[in-house]
Amino acid sequence: MTERLPLMAGNWKMNLNHLEAIQHTQKLAFALSDKDYQAVEVAVLVPFTDLRSVQTLVDGDKLKIKYGSQDISAHDGGAYTGEVSGPMLAKLKCGYAVIGHSERRQYHGENEEIVNAKVKAAYRNGITPILCVGEPLEIRKAGTQVEYTLAQLDGALDGLSAADAESIVVAYEPVWAIGTGEVATPEDAQEVCAAIRARLAELYDAELADKVRVLYGGSMKAGNAAGLMAKPDIDGGLIGGASLDADEFVRIVRYRE
Ligand code: PEP
Repeated sequence: MTERLPLMAGNWKMNLNHLEAIQHTQKLAFALSDKDYQAVEVAVLVPFTDLRSVQTLVDGDKLKIKYGSQDISAHDGGAYTGEVSGPMLAKLKCGYAVIGHSERRQYHGENEEIVNAKVKAAYRNGITPILCVGEPLEIRKAGTQVEYTLAQLDGALDGLSAADAESIVVAYEPVWAIGTGEVATPEDAQEVCAAIRARLAELYDAELADKVRVLYGGSMKAGNAAGLMAKPDIDGGLIGGASLDADEFVRIVRYRE
């Protein structure tokens, strides 16, 4: 089995202006040590307006924190007012782009076709997608969370080569757990994360599935991270609210301690 380096990625959502972003990133950089980075990859997923500030800090101080955007346009350029393209993000050396977050699916009408086009746009521009999938409450209540989430995965990966898919990060985020304080149990999260890996093995092969990092997201905090991370198919976290508190985020990064 491949040793997968856990990824703890903070999704700031629509919080922190470009000056606050500098302060927050500096605080993280000051707290984190080489020992942390050896054990866990740490990333911040920031509003578009913060990217230049974060890039300048990371480049200037040679920080080991990775960074990325919370969305990407499906198009590489042209008359798409308000969109931000893959080439623009690549120029800012974005390593990651969150794609298909449930808030974008819910408030911006992103469907499987759009998510799939955005995944392809990220790869065209050398950016690793953090693909979000996960079921709403009514699906969980009906007990069809695995089928629902795998259908989202199939749609997002449609037509994607193995060469691309092997680097994807998939974040299983049950919608009912996002920003609600109601975390999935480690067993519930493991069930779907394992099913995601099994589907990757079906779509590609077992070797590829073994390499892909599957994150859990939904009210992850310092107090519940270790229990979730103890599960074999959970390789990290996509952390919203708790990533805005630098001390709490660092405690999540140090979930083993
Ligand atoms: C998220 O925004 O992806 C998320 C998981 O949020 P929270 O940690 O606040 O539930």
